[in-house]
Amino acid sequence: MEIAKTIESVRQLVKAARGEGKNIGLVPTMGALHIGHISLIEAAVKQCDFVVVSIFVNPTQFGPGEDFEKYPRPLDADLEICRKTGVDVVFAPTPEQMYPSENLTWVSVEKLTELLCGQFRPIHFRGVTTVCAKLFNIVAPDFAFLGRKDAQQAIVVRRMVTDLNMPLEIVICPTVRRTDGLAVSSRNKYLTAEQKKDATLIYKSLQKCREMIEAGATESETIIAEMRKILSQAPSIEIEYINIVDAETLQNLDPHACLPTGRRGGKVLAAVAVHIGPARLIDNILLDLSKK
Ligand code: AMP
Repeated sequence: MEIAKTIESVRQLVKAARGEGKNIGLVPTMGALHIGHISLIEAAVKQCDFVVVSIFVNPTQFGPGEDFEKYPRPLDADLEICRKTGVDVVFAPTPEQMYPSENLTWVSVEKLTELLCGQFRPIHFRGVTTVCAKLFNIVAPDFAFLGRKDAQQAIVVRRMVTDLNMPLEIVICPTVRRTDGLAVSSRNKYLTAEQKKDATLIYKSLQKCREMIEAGATESETIIAEMRKILSQAPSIEIEYINIVDAETLQNLDPHACLPTGRRGGKVLAAVAVHIGPARLIDNILLDLSKK
């Protein structure tokens, strides 16, 4: 496995692989790799001849007062994971490599970024799409693998690729959870054992949503009230949002009207963001109502 710290070196390695007729997969990450990231790497290794994992804690997607400084950066452990999972190149640039001078050029996706997390993290998605555009230009992958765990991010990045005719395909992989349902996340490291237990209520609330919809509930307002009740069982949980939205437009569903059975395939996203102690945690489930 090669470790590329510069844009030039990763470009050369990818160019050589492409010269051998290999197709290229990219797994963009911020490091602190866990089984969620590993599932993306495994999907990439399965589908692609040459796999690049980028490890870069991207400063432009963190707002003031967020956890950029204290975000975990266990590079040696990350490299070990990449070695074991069959990665060809780890691209681990410094912030100076990626942003050598004040960044004046941004890629912003409209509308989709104003909803859900975008309401609370106003510059976040602009940072994500800009760094993804840069990584796609640097690595020039045929496929990029993103997690459903960050559903809005995946939808936004896929939209950028479509709107800007970028020559790659976004592959969205399922959310990996612990056995207690908690979605695996680098930010779970911020939680105490007690807080982790409280955090399992997030998935419980999403399961409640699934159960209610499967049992025929149609008012999103009623479903959200039940989800709120579950999350309120732990006083450590501060709810940022609970939304049930159209999985394509991310627009809220009419709180009193029927859920959109059959419309655009009837895909609905139930999404939750909470603060527990020092961590902000997000999770979601995708429900395909047309299959009911
Ligand atoms: P991050 O390092 O948090 O920026 O995440 C890098 C990629 O891993 C993103 O595409 C995430 O959606 C994905 N990811 C993070 N956690 C999980 C998980 N539990 N299951 C699946 N994918 C994940």
